[in-house]
Amino acid sequence: MTLIVQKYGGSSVGSPERICSVAARVARTRAGLKDLVVVVSAMGETTDQLIELARAVHSDPPQREMDMLLTAGERISMALLAMALRRENIEAISFTGSQSGIITDSSHGRARILEVRGERIRQELARGRVVIVAGFQGVSRDREITTLGRGGSDTTAVALAASLGAERCEIYTDVPGILSADPHTVPSARPLPRLSPRVALTLTTLGAGVLVPRAAALGFKLHMPIVVRSSWDESPGTRIEEDSKVENEGVAAVTSTGPVVVLEQSEQLDPAGRGTCTILALSQDSPQSGTRVVVAEEDADLLQGASEVARGFLVSLVTHGLMTASLAARAREVAHTLQTPILAAFGGPCSYSALVPKEKAAALVQSWHKEFIEQS
Ligand code: ASP
Ligand code: MG
Repeated sequence: MTLIVQKYGGSSVGSPERICSVAARVARTRAGLKDLVVVVSAMGETTDQLIELARAVHSDPPQREMDMLLTAGERISMALLAMALRRENIEAISFTGSQSGIITDSSHGRARILEVRGERIRQELARGRVVIVAGFQGVSRDREITTLGRGGSDTTAVALAASLGAERCEIYTDVPGILSADPHTVPSARPLPRLSPRVALTLTTLGAGVLVPRAAALGFKLHMPIVVRSSWDESPGTRIEEDSKVENEGVAAVTSTGPVVVLEQSEQLDPAGRGTCTILALSQDSPQSGTRVVVAEEDADLLQGASEVARGFLVSLVTHGLMTASLAARAREVAHTLQTPILAAFGGPCSYSALVPKEKAAALVQSWHKEFIEQS
């Protein structure tokens, strides 16, 4: 029987009623004779509330205990969903990350998945049960409970899908897929029916939201098709998969992320800080100059020995195919017309990013969206 992994985010399981409607959707999928593994996030704002609770007790809580606390959020959702499924007469069993065999390194709060054992999941699937897994967590080789960083349930879902040999990984959320822009900024933004894994990775890294970049990276690396769709309706959402038949062109989306900091890395970069902080964009002006990297403001401290060059919001154009010089020139032209200063610019094979002052970011997103997506 084909296997599907579904993941439901915090808003999708935000109340008992919503948990029951997730159970109904699981029941419908099941009726199509699929083996099902369901990954859940913590209900609504639970994770934020738990963080607040911890801070009320200690201003800088120990990371190990923080992970013990935060993993409780997903544990609540998994048990409630298993109960709701029982009401639908579906045999289901819930597992923590540790019971599911999600083995991570031991860096609390931002652990990496080293291996997915998954024997218990396979056994329960073979017994005909739906298996519910608490997202965002695992266990280290020294048997400590770990978490994968904010939004880590997406990563859990893609890792499980790949290791169990699923047909696809479906990510259920409160928007109808990955959109051409943030609908709060651009009300006419539309869902993108299809994205190549590389473009999806670029988009999520540059701030598309919806899917965490680590999950997009894992899907890309492990060739796991990912579908991002709404848990409120039946619209098809965004399918992230290589399309061998077409060579796609044009601008896919406009994103904005921030606040970000541009740092220049000197030679004496502290190796301890290396690799732990995601770089959003990078440039080197000349062989003599240091490498300039753009990182989220909250990550800036992780790169010790780097000096700040600028700060603002990173607004990006992401293309389905390759970025062209004329597209980048038109993008600069639009910014110029808006009198938006570009403090620094960065490019990639399928992206052009401009660092702009925070208060100019939304207008630039709207103008680029109009110029490159609405009018084309
Ligand atoms: N509950 C965790 C968070 O809010 C993990 C997740 O939602 O994926 O970050
Ligand atoms: Mg959450």
